[in-house]
Amino acid sequence: MPADPTRREALTGALSGIGADALIVTHLPNIRWLTGFTGSAGIVVLTGNRLALVTDFRYAVQAPQEVGPTVEVVVDRSNVWERVQRLVSGLGVVAFESHVMTVREADRLAGLLKGAALQPTVDLIEQYRQVKNAAEVDAIRAAGALAHAALAEVLPTIRAGEREIDVAARLEAALRVRGSEWHPFQTIVASGPRSALPHARTSERVIGQDELLLIDFGAQVDGYCADITRTMVIGRADQQQRVIHALVQEAQLRARANVRAGMTGREADALARDVIAARGYGDAFGHSLGHGLGLEVHEAPRLAATVEALLPVGAVVTIEPGIYLPGWGGVRLEDDVWLAPDGPVLLTDGHTDLLELDN
Ligand code: ZN
Ligand code: ZN
Repeated sequence: MPADPTRREALTGALSGIGADALIVTHLPNIRWLTGFTGSAGIVVLTGNRLALVTDFRYAVQAPQEVGPTVEVVVDRSNVWERVQRLVSGLGVVAFESHVMTVREADRLAGLLKGAALQPTVDLIEQYRQVKNAAEVDAIRAAGALAHAALAEVLPTIRAGEREIDVAARLEAALRVRGSEWHPFQTIVASGPRSALPHARTSERVIGQDELLLIDFGAQVDGYCADITRTMVIGRADQQQRVIHALVQEAQLRARANVRAGMTGREADALARDVIAARGYGDAFGHSLGHGLGLEVHEAPRLAATVEALLPVGAVVTIEPGIYLPGWGGVRLEDDVWLAPDGPVLLTDGHTDLLELDN
């Protein structure tokens, strides 16, 4: 997607609001959001009358094609930071992204910009990125559809007796072949008791008969991520597996149906947490309900018991309650929801019924 001029206007306004004359953008997802540039090396300089992408010769052809005519591309063959310094020379207050820049880079910047006041900012662009436009929502929906198609292809092939990484490898191949740009995070395939580890690493463990299998995976389309978790049984489910799965599903459905823009992160989190806690499993749901989704797989807003910030209209968030019982296993169900003005819109398939795979 080429640069969207309304984003530049919004940020220029935000800059004058904080009394800065320029903003130096170094976080690559923010650079992509502001300019459309997808490369891995670049710095953006935004001033009242200029939006410039400084990059190196590797991107001399790609950058102008991606950003379109509204962004000035500056290719520097020797030192991009010195070029940045020339672009902001004479300006009084220069803001930078203090949550991204290393101390070393900040020191170098301060050395280059003698005479200017450096102003740290935190999550300035991230605040705007929370609100998705139609093209962004479509990209996340497309990533979700691609992810579901890849999973549907792999499900009939999963068998007890193979390793978690064998399943992950087939799923990742299916995602890539179907057009996912990359895996937005490390695919989690966790079996049996390992499914009780919310962020398990996929291992060489052999999946046992009648065990839980938790698969948390993503796809990326036009830079935008989908993030999905399904938990199934490889074989036949027993009573406890059914009960825990049904409880997580009830909590997930309640949150999915009732989450709204204008709620606090705490209120959204409680939609699922209250259901799980009422049945005595509150302590087993040890993470927050969800997170924002976009160019990054974890971004603002957060749906968590500690968050009093309001969920903005237009955000895309995950809804992912779970119950984890050490030594036994865990169930998590995750779908992606767009907080549209009229209410939540599901962007993933929402098929969370317990699957018993007897392949
Ligand atoms: Zn996930
Ligand atoms: Zn997630």
